[in-house]
Amino acid sequence: MAPARTRVNSLHVAVIGAGAAGLVAARELRRENHSVVVFERDSKVGGLWVYTPNSEPDPLSLDPNRTIVHSSVYDSLRTNLPRECMGYRDFPFVPRPEDDESRDQRRYPSHREVLAYLEDFAREFKLVEMVRFKTEVVLVEPEGQKWKVQSKNSDGISKDEIFDAVVVCNGHYTEPRVAHVPGIDSWPGKQIHSHNYRVPDQFKDQVVVVIGNFASGADISRDITGVAKEVHIASRSNPSTTYSKLTGSNNLWLHSMIDSVHKDGSIVFQNGKVVQADTIVHCTGYKYHFPFLNTNGYITVEDNCVGPLYKHVFPPALAPGLSFIGLPWMTLQFFMFELQSKWVAAALSGRVTLPSEDKMMEDVTAYYAKRESYGQPKRYTHRLGGGQVEYLNWIAEQIGAPPGEQWRYQEIDGGYYRLVTQSDTFRDKWDDDHLIVEAYEDFLRQKLISSLPSQLLES
Ligand code: FAD
Repeated sequence: MAPARTRVNSLHVAVIGAGAAGLVAARELRRENHSVVVFERDSKVGGLWVYTPNSEPDPLSLDPNRTIVHSSVYDSLRTNLPRECMGYRDFPFVPRPEDDESRDQRRYPSHREVLAYLEDFAREFKLVEMVRFKTEVVLVEPEGQKWKVQSKNSDGISKDEIFDAVVVCNGHYTEPRVAHVPGIDSWPGKQIHSHNYRVPDQFKDQVVVVIGNFASGADISRDITGVAKEVHIASRSNPSTTYSKLTGSNNLWLHSMIDSVHKDGSIVFQNGKVVQADTIVHCTGYKYHFPFLNTNGYITVEDNCVGPLYKHVFPPALAPGLSFIGLPWMTLQFFMFELQSKWVAAALSGRVTLPSEDKMMEDVTAYYAKRESYGQPKRYTHRLGGGQVEYLNWIAEQIGAPPGEQWRYQEIDGGYYRLVTQSDTFRDKWDDDHLIVEAYEDFLRQKLISSLPSQLLES
């Protein structure tokens, strides 16, 4: 752990966003005695998990002037991680005795249960009183040693305020990335990005090609099979010569990537197969986007790499006054948000000291060089995957917290494996009951729950 300073500062801090990251950031900042204002452009907490049947008018979300719909959640969505490992460390995401019948007790519950959990979290820690709803941050820029935050409320009234620090928690699943498909400009079919997908009805009797086969692609393609004539997945990880029918439905095929599309409506895959398709669904991910941030060009987003950032959190020349919570992906999100937030709160109060700007920059440069030596593209900069344990435990060490629990890391490893190998059944069939027991026993030992659930006692 970095040496602690003796003086502890209490600062005036702006948090942008009241999703899973912003909520825990607000809690940790207040625990560290900072005064906190959370700006949230929606009227509720929960961010991405606030489902809406509405989608954006432009189905590919390419128009920069479109009306933004924040959430990318579709109606049938269930979590892609087991709930025990998904929650915040000191407020586990588990069924509680006081839950009413509207709650979803499944291990991989629906998106509604995640929102209910975040609402419980906000209530338990009295976070809502810090949030200014329906208030969008439109500009953040340095002002001397401080930060100017300009916001606009729902009546269109702007306000400029000065803060000692700004913590950016605006999420990164709202600005779609669309794959380049050779010939797409003359292809006559419809296109939609998963950001704007809610329910399958519009695909009735259609032939649909879904690009991408990770979490959303795998889910959405199966959702559509119930109504569509045929669904074909184009997957980068499938070898270019093969194609196969997937288990669990009789109209779903897995292909290699698309080679080209044509003005007669045909889609040619790299495996040589040709289909006449009505719609392409792009499940090709999202871009980091900070339209409000003006750092005079210091922070850039290039090929989805936000930088320079020390350990994905602090821009060396602007630290600790500016920080980002939640950029890494392929990791335990809520758990990481909590650790990063504690780190930011302690760095701002002076309880934890960051390295010098030069040292932080050296670390960033070394990290980029390592990524390049592995032949990884820039857009993988914030992908943790196999490196997550080292990263999360490193942050835990900075703040004097215990490393992540073994059961938590084993659950996520096993969870990813099942997601990839049994994408049709992973939410309802598993072979790691012993990890569930370990997790609940751990919660009980720490008095985070009052008793073991009856199902566990029976097993
Ligand atoms: P968000 O939840 O996106 O919150 C950002 C908030 O900032 C929003 O409320 C937004 O309104 C607000 N905001 C944005 N800009 C401004 C502004 N300028 N001014 C004011 N407010 C602003 N993770 C898991 O752990 N398990 C899962 O099962 C899982 N499933 C997922 C499924 C899908 C389809 C997607 C896209 C992601 C999934 N994730 C999952 C990852 C998920 O993004 C994180 O779990 C987490 O909810 C993100 O929280 P966040 O606070 O970073 O962002």
